[in-house]
Amino acid sequence: MPLSSNKFPRVAYEADFCVVGGGMAGLVASIAAARHGARVVLMHDRPVLGGNASSECRIHICGADRHNQIPNMRETGILEEIRLENLHCNLNRNYSVWDMVLYDLAERTVNLTVLLNCSCIDATMDGDHIESISGWQTTSQTRHTVRARIFADCSGDSVLAPLTGAEYRMGREGRDETGETVAPEKADVATMGMTCLFQARDFGTPQTFKPPEWANIYTRDEDLPYGARGHNHGGWWGLGYWWVELGGTYHSIHDTERMRRDLLKITLGVWDHIKNQGDHDAENWGLEWLQFLPGKRESRRYIGDYVLTQQDIEAGGNFTDTIAYGGWSMDDHHPAGFEVVRIGAPPTIYHPAPSPYGIPYRSLYSRNVGNLMFAGRNVSVTHTALSSTRVMGTCISMGQAMGTAATIAVRHSLTPREVGDRVNELQQLLLLDDCYLPWIPLKLSPLTVDARLQASNGADPEPVRDEWNRPIGNDPHAWTARSGDSITYLFDTPSYVAEVKLLLDTAINRDLALSLHYKDHGMIHTPRETPRRFRIDVLKGGEWHKFRVVEGNYQRQVCVGIGEVVEGVRYTLNETHGAETSRVYGFYVR
Ligand SMILES: Cc1cc2nc3c(=O)[nH]c(=O)nc-3n(C[C@H](O)[C@H](O)[C@H](O)COP(=O)(O)OP(=O)(O)OC[C@H]3O[C@@H](n4cnc5c(N)ncnc54)[C@H](O)[C@@H]3O)c2cc1C
Repeated sequence: MPLSSNKFPRVAYEADFCVVGGGMAGLVASIAAARHGARVVLMHDRPVLGGNASSECRIHICGADRHNQIPNMRETGILEEIRLENLHCNLNRNYSVWDMVLYDLAERTVNLTVLLNCSCIDATMDGDHIESISGWQTTSQTRHTVRARIFADCSGDSVLAPLTGAEYRMGREGRDETGETVAPEKADVATMGMTCLFQARDFGTPQTFKPPEWANIYTRDEDLPYGARGHNHGGWWGLGYWWVELGGTYHSIHDTERMRRDLLKITLGVWDHIKNQGDHDAENWGLEWLQFLPGKRESRRYIGDYVLTQQDIEAGGNFTDTIAYGGWSMDDHHPAGFEVVRIGAPPTIYHPAPSPYGIPYRSLYSRNVGNLMFAGRNVSVTHTALSSTRVMGTCISMGQAMGTAATIAVRHSLTPREVGDRVNELQQLLLLDDCYLPWIPLKLSPLTVDARLQASNGADPEPVRDEWNRPIGNDPHAWTARSGDSITYLFDTPSYVAEVKLLLDTAINRDLALSLHYKDHGMIHTPRETPRRFRIDVLKGGEWHKFRVVEGNYQRQVCVGIGEVVEGVRYTLNETHGAETSRVYGFYVR
């Protein structure tokens, strides 16, 4: 750019797939698509990735395992990889390091271009198809335009809806319309609100707090939701209070800045109450961080070919086109938010939901804009269903599915709707990428299925090539090894093996989430069960050859490229991160 230019620069991109919004859903969708070979541009309006999970908001990622209350139900695939990376390099649970983990993953992803600080503000259409979108990058005062085959809106607020004419809904459906028993009788425009959290820490020495003069003052415990029991212990002081919530009775997009001002008054008032209004045993606690960017729960929801409802969730969502799953309860926040104290209502009601329940592919693309997809809190679900699907583990599960579907669309020149005719292919790609889909079995390559399988320790090795990649019920669907144990595939005739894929033990029965809730919540290091060192050998000319020793592993899903004609392949466990035994959930050759 010449230094003398007085015009704003314009930069154009050609992509297969363009994603707007780099929250967890958009980030994971972009990575999934790029890994499957699509040229992807991700346009994101913040300096850090992760949306509500980033250091700007610090909300912990929950999902179908409900903080491990439902064992073996956490989302694997790309989310598992991110969490394991974080455990490996973020032992102090620092949110800037978490930002780095997400940024590093995007940087390392071939085929992915990330435009940060770039807010999507425009779109051009060709009939009912999006031709291009444009964004304004504040840091460089540059307009970026992306032409692509498929677009995805993962902005949470569905910015592409008003820009493209895609149908959407805002507010709560009426019971008279959907038959949802927890919906209000008649439809209204209320949503769940937004929140500003805080983070405090026990510094070990007395800490004073003087609130700004504009902060609210709460002298009595009853001034706060849940009364005294709601804020009287330090467990939440590292994370803040989700019930500092406003916006449900305002416009949850256009009134955001007004809500931010009011939320900061409340957040600081709550902290002042804890520190200065009565004894809360908080003398040594001091504020470390305040959330100046409100975290949002609900705004525009797109209308897709299918709108998921309360009844679908309660019935377990056993769809033929299940491509993701949820399991959080229907956690329906009162639109009055913090103001519930005035009307005596609970801030949220947890309506029961089964875990898992399936989410259909038809909820992830637009009914009326031909090449528009979505994932995250803006998908095609009712307000009541959203109160469950909105948790980020579920948003990520949808993101990986949607990004993978986009690559099928690009590869075969299909619209997102037409990909629905190949949903089996989509499901199998997701399962092979270590996602879990309830009730959908994995179909393995003939090379894997037809080979003879042996274990050195006499335990049955067959579960490593059964149809499931995690424990289900009482069946672990795994082979268990000690150091030195091995499993071997022998082929009847020498065969070309492109790659060996392993699904290893990362303690699927425990909680790996990054969280500031309670001091010892979640795990803070690589699970002890995970193999640190293992070996892959190949059988050639009747003799075993050492092919690869993998050192310093901390991941669940590991691929080892072979690229040779061999008579057999062997996995040997050498060392774990501390446990005596380690399971193998999958051992596949192709
Ligand atoms: C206080 C609070 C507590 C919550 N608690 C939990 C919890 O404990 N666990 C849990 O899993 N979930 C929780 N949720 C819900 C969860 O955080 C959201 O539902 C989830 O973040 C939605 O994910 P997403 O990727 O769709 O959107 P987001 O996380 O909102 O990400 C969307 C991103 O798109 C960007 N964007 C928006 N517009 C544009 C544009 N025009 N151009 C480019 N980029 C744009 C935004 O900056 C944002 O970063 C909570 C939410 C709140 C507010």
